Amino acid sequence: AIPLVIAVSTSRAASHGFLIRNRTAFEQARTLDAIIFDKTGTLTKGEFGVTDIRMFSETFSKKELLTLAASLETRSEHSIAQGIVEASEETFAVESFNAITGKGVEGQVDGKKIAVVSPGYLEEQNINIPDRSSMDELASTGKTIVYILVEGSLEAAIALGDQIREESYEAIRRLKESGIQCMMLTGDNEQVAGYVADELGLEDYFAEVLPDEKSDKVKEVQQRGLSVAMVGDGVNDAPALAQADVGIAIGAGSDVAVETADLVLVKNNPKDVVWIVLLAKATYRKMI
Ligand code: ADP
Ligand code: MG
Repeated sequence: AIPLVIAVSTSRAASHGFLIRNRTAFEQARTLDAIIFDKTGTLTKGEFGVTDIRMFSETFSKKELLTLAASLETRSEHSIAQGIVEASEETFAVESFNAITGKGVEGQVDGKKIAVVSPGYLEEQNINIPDRSSMDELASTGKTIVYILVEGSLEAAIALGDQIREESYEAIRRLKESGIQCMMLTGDNEQVAGYVADELGLEDYFAEVLPDEKSDKVKEVQQRGLSVAMVGDGVNDAPALAQADVGIAIGAGSDVAVETADLVLVKNNPKDVVWIVLLAKATYRKMI
């Protein structure tokens, strides 16, 4: 039989916006040392809007480049892709498409080879970024920057703005008050990550983490001797959720993440993580 206090907690959990899929993990939520949050879509809204387009040559017009990039992005499900598609008035048919996991997209549009990629990808390909300092300036205010290549030649940069969720500030403050170290994991670049970490007062962060490296970062924190929860929403987050002592998925995220998680947040509200910790403490205090 399920002990009464746990049965009560299950309904209280639901009323506080989360579901318990694994009781052992829920019990462990009362003794957490650290919580690692995914950035995009978890601590931030994950709704990107194009704020600037910087041109590096005059081969194409701004409108042409945006159309080419947006066309390719119609094939991606990333929130960055959504922002770029929304910014363009029209899109062309995509002739071929390939997602470069954690780095961008590439393919053929209007007979041209197009790529929309991260700063890390350019570095890897030894492609020099002109006007580096103004790109750095955009990134230091939390803008995510992707680059447009046409036939391998760097043509423009698109800056996109996301917003930190209002609830993230209070969630982090309260978790820190209860002695839990708050950290962040992201595929986004160092400057954007630094900006968000600084804004929220996070104790540590990992930037430019490729999807298949996320669980290694969780392990790294566990190896510091800490009991760790991971909060994420994406398909890419599933291995990290599995690696964590407590895996917390955002219900609105991917099915894979939800199926791997120990606990599921019904809404997209980081404050519900505070409830998980409080309710776990209250539940198991009563039992002993
Ligand atoms: P996160 O979930 O933390 O945002 P991802 O691994 O999904 O990280 O993406 C990492 C980086 O790869 C993004 O910040 C972006 O630079 C690049 N990227 C991923 N998908 C796309 C896309 N569809 N278009 C352009 N860039 C992308
Ligand atoms: Mg994500």
